[in-house]
Amino acid sequence: MKRIPEPFRIKMVEPIKMTNKAERTAALAEAGYNPFLLKSDDVYIDLLTDSGTGAMSDNQWAGMMLGDESYAGSRNFFSLKNAMQHFFNYEYLIPTHQGRGAEQILFPCLINRMKEVRGGENPVFISNFHFDTTAAHVELNGGKAVNVCTEKAFDTVTYYDWKGDFDLVKLETEIEKAGSKNVAAIITTVTCNSSGGQPVSMANMRAVYEIAKKHDIPVVIDSARYCENAYFIKQREEGYADKSITDIIREMYSYGDMLTMSAKKDAIVNIGGMLAIREKSELFQAAQTLCVPLEGFVTYGGLAGRDMEALARGLHEGADEDFLHYRISQVEYLGERLREGGVPIQYPTGGHAVFVDARKILPHIPGDQFPAQALCNALYLESGVRPVEIGSFLLGRDPATGRQKDAPLELMRLAIPRRVYTNDHMDYIADALIEVSKNAGDIKGFEFEYEPPVLRHFTARLKPIS
Ligand SMILES: *Cc1c(COP(=O)(O)O)cnc(C)c1O
Repeated sequence: MKRIPEPFRIKMVEPIKMTNKAERTAALAEAGYNPFLLKSDDVYIDLLTDSGTGAMSDNQWAGMMLGDESYAGSRNFFSLKNAMQHFFNYEYLIPTHQGRGAEQILFPCLINRMKEVRGGENPVFISNFHFDTTAAHVELNGGKAVNVCTEKAFDTVTYYDWKGDFDLVKLETEIEKAGSKNVAAIITTVTCNSSGGQPVSMANMRAVYEIAKKHDIPVVIDSARYCENAYFIKQREEGYADKSITDIIREMYSYGDMLTMSAKKDAIVNIGGMLAIREKSELFQAAQTLCVPLEGFVTYGGLAGRDMEALARGLHEGADEDFLHYRISQVEYLGERLREGGVPIQYPTGGHAVFVDARKILPHIPGDQFPAQALCNALYLESGVRPVEIGSFLLGRDPATGRQKDAPLELMRLAIPRRVYTNDHMDYIADALIEVSKNAGDIKGFEFEYEPPVLRHFTARLKPIS
C-alpha cells in the first residue's frame, strides 16, 4: 500500500528516548505489568490513546497568544461559537473542560426533561455503543445504557464498510421494551470507538433520526471523531464522493438535536470539549445552570480563553480534507503492514486506531489470564511501544458473582495520536509486532498481584504466570 506523505513540515521537535530491553524489563516489572503504570519517559512510541495527545499547529499556538482571559464573554468564546456554528449549524454553545464535562451537565437535564415533559420514570439511553464515561454518566444519574451496535462489528475478519452502524431492528425493539417515554435520549457515537473506530453511515444516521422523531426522543451526537467519520462517508457512501467534508459534517448534524464533544480527538487540542444544542429550549437553560457549579461560568466552562481559541482553530484543521486523507491512510497503512505480516486485526481498520485480535494470536492463554494484556506487555518489551488492552482485563468481574466476565473480543489497541508520529514510526511498530507474533507461543498469561475493586485496569498490578 502507498504511503501518503505528511501534509505538514516539522518546525519543533520533542526528543523521545529509545531504551534497551534490560531497561524495559525493569520498567515493566516496576509498573506491575500494567502499561498504564509506566512512566512516559520509559516509552518510545506511545499508542495508549489518541485523546489529548495530538500536536497543535503553528496556527493554533499563535491563537494561544490571543487568549482573552476575561471571566465572562471572552472574545475566544465567540470565535469558538462561530467555528462551531460553521460546521454544525447549532445555535447554542457551552464550552466544557472535556467530553465528560459535557456529559455530566447534559445527562441529568435530559432525564429531567424526560420525566417532566414525557412522563417517563425509568431512564434508558440507547446508543450504537456508549463510550465508557458516557455509560458511567448515564448510570451515575440512575439511567440504563443499552448498546445496539450491528453484529457485524464483532466479526473482526469480514470486511464491512459500516461496523459503527446501529442495528435498526434492535433499536426499535429496545425502544418498545423500555417504552418510548422512558428513553431519555438516543446517542449516536461517531465514529464508534468501542467497535474499533468504525464509521456510521449517513443512511444509518438518517434512519436513526427518523425513528427517534417518530417516538419524540432527542438524539445526541457523541462527537469525538466526527471528521474521521465524515471522511469515511466521502470515501465509501454513494452520492458523497463529490461533497466537501464540511457539507458532509453539516448533513450528519442535521440528524441530531444536540452534541457532546471531546475536543481532544478530532479537534486536535490537548484539553477541551463542548455541548451544543440546535434550538432554544429549556434544556439549554437547565444545562447552563448546571454548568456554573460543575464546569465554570457559561462562556468558559473550565477552559482558559486561549484553550477556546486553539479549539476554534482546531475545528477547522481537523476537518481539512488533505489532513484527513493522510490521517486515515496512516492508520490503514499500519493495518495493512500487519495483515501482510500475518497479524490478525479488526478489518477494515477504523479511523484512529488499529485493533489487534489477541485471542487469535494467543489461543493458549484463557481470558482470565488476559491474552491482550500479555500481548501489550510483549510488544512493549520488544520495542518500547505502549499499546492498551481492550478485553477481559478492562471488562472486569460480574458484580453479582465476582467472576471474570467473558469479553466478546480480546483486543490490543494501537491508537495513533494526530500529527505526532511519522510513517517511519508506523513501520517500526509493524516490524516489532510481526516479530512478537512469530514467537507468540512463548508468551505467558498474567494473574493479579493487586486488584482494585473498581476501574481496576488503571491501577491493578499483575505478575506473570510461571
Ligand atoms: C473520549 C470520548 C469521550 C469522553 O471525552 P473526554 O474528553 O475523555 O472526557 C466520550 N465519547 C467518546 C466517543 C470518546 O471517544
